[in-house]
Amino acid sequence: MTLANGRETLAIPGPSVMPDRVLRAMHRAAPNIYEGELVDMMPGMIADLKAVARTKGHVAIYISNGHGAWEAAVANTHNRGEKALVLATGSFAKGWAGMATAMGVDCEIVDFGRESGVDLARLAEVLAADKDHQFKSVLLTQVDTSSSVRSDVPGIRRVLDEAGHPALLMVDCIACLGSDRFEMDAWGVDVTVAGCQKGLMTPPGLGFVFFNAKADAMRDDAEYVSSYWDWRPRTRPEALYQYFCGTAPTHHLFGLREALDMIGEEGLENIWNRHETLARAVWAAFEAWGQGGPARLNVANPAERSHAVTTVSIGAPKGTQLRHWVTEHAGLTLGLGLNMGPNGERSSDSHFRIAHMGHVNSHMLLGTLATIESALIALDVPHGPGGVSAAAKICAV
Ligand SMILES: *Cc1c(COP(=O)(O)O)cnc(C)c1O
Repeated sequence: MTLANGRETLAIPGPSVMPDRVLRAMHRAAPNIYEGELVDMMPGMIADLKAVARTKGHVAIYISNGHGAWEAAVANTHNRGEKALVLATGSFAKGWAGMATAMGVDCEIVDFGRESGVDLARLAEVLAADKDHQFKSVLLTQVDTSSSVRSDVPGIRRVLDEAGHPALLMVDCIACLGSDRFEMDAWGVDVTVAGCQKGLMTPPGLGFVFFNAKADAMRDDAEYVSSYWDWRPRTRPEALYQYFCGTAPTHHLFGLREALDMIGEEGLENIWNRHETLARAVWAAFEAWGQGGPARLNVANPAERSHAVTTVSIGAPKGTQLRHWVTEHAGLTLGLGLNMGPNGERSSDSHFRIAHMGHVNSHMLLGTLATIESALIALDVPHGPGGVSAAAKICAV
C-alpha cells in the first residue's frame, strides 16, 4: 500500500520549496525591458538584496547558478598564479577551489573534515606561517551543504585580524543566506556568494556576488575577468541590460521580488529564529531516536550545526532505503548523503539530508519527521522512542 497521494513535500537542500506567491508572481506575460515596471523595480530590489546580506556594499546579479557566482567572485579578485587559502568543512569549498584552480589560482586547501567547523587555532597557525602574505584570499562556505557543518565566520575574521593578514575574506552563503544568521558588514566579510534557489525561495537561475570596496580594489588588477563576469558594469548600470550584460531574467526577477517581499514582511530576525527552532526540532528527534539505535546527527556540536539543512546517518544501506521508502510511501523527498560515503563516494547509503531552508513551517517539518519515524518502523531500524514528540515540544512556542 502507498499513502503517497496528496501534495508531495520536497526537503532536499536546493532547490527549496517555492512559495505559491512566488510562482504566481512569475505567471504573467513578458514585460517591456526598456521602460516600465521591470526597470523601475531594480533599485528597490538591489537595496532589498543587500539588506538580506546585511551589507552596504555592492551586489552583482548573474543569470547563473551558484557555480557561476563562484567563478565571478574569483575572476574579479584574482590573477593567475595568485594564492588562495581554502577552508574545507565538507564538499563545497573543495568545489569552489576546483573552479578557482581551473582559472589558474593556486589553492591551498586546509581540510577540517566533515563533522566540525573551521578550527580557529589551526587557521591561526596557517596564517602565521604565511609571513609574506602570499594568500590573496581566504575562501570558505558558511554552511557546507553536504556535511551541514556551519563555520564561525566572525571568529575567522577575528583570527585574520589578530594575524594582521590582509587576505580578502570570501564566504559562500549559497546554502544558508536567508536561513542562518549572516551579517556581511558587521562580520567583516569582503565577498559573499549566494544563489536564489535555497533560502531565497526562487527557482534556480540567479547567482549573487556581494562585495565591498576592498574587494572592488582587487578588481583593478584582475586581468582575466571577461566582460560577462565583470562585476563593475553590473553594479554601475545606466540601463537595465547592464545589470545582466544582456536581456534581464525577467520572470526570475518577478519571482525574486515577491520572495524579497515575503522576507520583508516576516523580518530577517524572525526568519532566523524560525529556522533555528525548526533545526532544533530535527536535532531533538534524532537525539531521541539515537538513544535506541544507529540514528545520529553528523555534527556533534550544536554550535556548528546549520539551521538550513541537517545531515544524518542511520547506517548503510538503510539511509538510501529510507529515502526511497518515504518517497514511495509518503510523498516525501529527502536529500541524498552527498559525498558522505566512507571514501567520499558521491552518494552514501548511510547518510541522508533534511532541508529546512526557506519556505518551511512547523507543520511541514513535523510531517517530515513523523514520516521518517514511520520509515524507521517500516524498515526495522531500531530507534529510541519519542522522536516526534520531542520535536513537537520544540515547536510548541
Ligand atoms: C548549492 C550550493 C552550491 C552550488 O550551487 P549551484 O546553484 O548548484 O551551482 C555551492 N555552495 C553551496 C554551499 C551550496 O549549498
